[in-house]
Amino acid sequence: MKNSNMDPRDYLIVALDVPGRDEAVGLAEKLAGKVGYFKIGLQLFTAYGPEIVRSIKAMGGRVFLDLKLHDIPNTVARAVNEATRLEVSLLTVHALGGPGMMSAAATAAREASTALGVPAPRLLGVTILTSMDQDEAGRIGLSEPIDQMVLRLARLAEHSGMDGVVCSPLELETLGAGLNGDLFFVTPGIRPAGADLNDQSRITTPGRAVAGGARHLVVGRPITRAADPAEAASRIVEEIGRELDS
Ligand code: C5P
Repeated sequence: MKNSNMDPRDYLIVALDVPGRDEAVGLAEKLAGKVGYFKIGLQLFTAYGPEIVRSIKAMGGRVFLDLKLHDIPNTVARAVNEATRLEVSLLTVHALGGPGMMSAAATAAREASTALGVPAPRLLGVTILTSMDQDEAGRIGLSEPIDQMVLRLARLAEHSGMDGVVCSPLELETLGAGLNGDLFFVTPGIRPAGADLNDQSRITTPGRAVAGGARHLVVGRPITRAADPAEAASRIVEEIGRELDS
């Protein structure tokens, strides 16, 4: 189901997968106002910490902090509290951390938001990483078929107070049909028609992901490695807009 009352720019999350602070901030400067969010992942956050979040926010960018938290509930709750203080918009936690951990994260986001008078980050459950295949899952004792595990973990996320899940665009249909409709979907693996696939294989186009029900699309290299990142982002936003109008 499309969320056609949203501004097409709000669909687009640009993954700032660059090693340096200056590159990240430079990209965000070029793209500010043209895209919805900037994803800060483990590399940038490990190198530059909360300062990089503040720098991106200072130029008006909303932040998706992709830390994939997975620890005991109390520790995750404290990290969520700090992320709320940083006023990030989206934050990931591993659904494999279990319902207790996810519920603690959701409670922490709500309580910190009330105490600080700032918006709560929307929490996203990560199910099974797409880098993990059936063989590797089996080696850590997860013998259920991966597609069933993904649905099971997404349902747990739904019942544990997550706002959304990160999923492959190819999982949108199964998840949409198997959940109660309370979660929104964030999908990487997006390539505009004709773009370089880089190391992605199971991909779809921005238009198809939106038609399939994705609320946000995570796009990295097709924008960050483009000769003109702002123009590449605008083309993707236009494709999303066309899909919403169709
Ligand atoms: O450059 P590209 O568009 O492939 O970047 C996609 C972003 O989404 C990267 O930050 C990547 O780590 C992330 N991601 C992914 N596939 C997943 C989960 C996250 O590509 N299953």
